[in-house]
Amino acid sequence: MPVVIDSDCINCDMCVPECPNDAIAMGKEHYVVDVNKCTECEGFYDEPACIPVCPIECMTLIPDA
Ligand code: SF4
Ligand code: SF4
Repeated sequence: MPVVIDSDCINCDMCVPECPNDAIAMGKEHYVVDVNKCTECEGFYDEPACIPVCPIECMTLIPDA
């Protein structure tokens, strides 16, 4: 399951360098995660590296349905 970025994103760019898969990029109005690239950081880190660096906590790991 990928991380999603909600519309509160302030486009601060903090999360982008944390991603080992280059899955985060600017979208139409705010940053977005490419669901085809996000692996939840599996193989790199124990937990998603992007979520803790977001200053406004607008990144969420979508749990398995
Ligand atoms: S969880 Fe990991 S792979 Fe997915 S967007 Fe965040 S930093 Fe990138
Ligand atoms: S760190 Fe959070 S607020 Fe900053 S660009 Fe990433 S998702 Fe948006």
